[in-house]
Amino acid sequence: MTPPVPRSGQPAVRPYRGRIAPSPTGWLHAGHARTFTVAWRRANAAGGTCILRMEDLDTARCKPVYAEAVYDDLRWLGLNWEEGPDTGGPHAPYVQSERGEIYRTWWNALRDSGCIYPSPHSRKDVREALSAPHGDSGEAVFPARLRPPPGARGGRTATRAGNWRVRGPDDRAIRFTDGCRGDTEYTAGRDFGDFIVWRKDGYPSYEFAVVVDDHLMGITEVVRGEDLLLSTARQQLLYEAFGWSAPAWYHCTLVRDADGRRLAKRTDARSLRAMRLAGVDPVRLCGRLFASQR
Ligand code: GLU
Repeated sequence: MTPPVPRSGQPAVRPYRGRIAPSPTGWLHAGHARTFTVAWRRANAAGGTCILRMEDLDTARCKPVYAEAVYDDLRWLGLNWEEGPDTGGPHAPYVQSERGEIYRTWWNALRDSGCIYPSPHSRKDVREALSAPHGDSGEAVFPARLRPPPGARGGRTATRAGNWRVRGPDDRAIRFTDGCRGDTEYTAGRDFGDFIVWRKDGYPSYEFAVVVDDHLMGITEVVRGEDLLLSTARQQLLYEAFGWSAPAWYHCTLVRDADGRRLAKRTDARSLRAMRLAGVDPVRLCGRLFASQR
């Protein structure tokens, strides 16, 4: 089929492509139900596509039993997904642990550009080394003094070099417009520091894999929880480093318990799986979730 020719002076409008991107590191909860439902509804309302991507790079925490529950929970919620890798049938999910070669190719490209560097410091080292206060988010900001001088690229292989970090543009404002919250701004070097893109265990970090995937999968809008707002700021820097345009962003407010605490994957009693097995009506659950919050 021939694609429609855009009228001169008008950019071609890309069809909406969204994604549901769970990590099978625990039982999903009502917050996931809301975020994934928003993602699915926005794709449908735009007449677009919604894909499923299983984000299973945290090998220590991901378990097949959680992945199985994700599929069952999504079906229970009435959320279906489209396409998938050729090998897995028409509605197979994309699975990050099967995409190692792709990430390695793009990691090589980033390394050759000089905007990342090998760092022997783990997140724990950074937390321990910091006497300075953490960023507003409470997150330990990597201190610039631990950064090697520009031009020091280190070893050629990921595994020998420890973690690899992005050399941050200190004090630069990172701005984006969020579909839910409006204009949003963070400052590199204050709200977050040089972040890890490649882990010393040979896997890409969440930030890196998600940017490569969202770009290669043609995602036009990322819908996720607002606990990942800082990650979005970091990811904007990666889009810039790759020379790719970033998708639109839509961060959903978090679902909280009666005491105002964020829901956690650890609490099985509040999991979607537990509700599903107890015969809760998913339509009523969604009605409640959308009644009071965005
Ligand atoms: N996999 C992440 C999570 O379950 C979400 C990542 C994203 O939406 O970018 O928290």
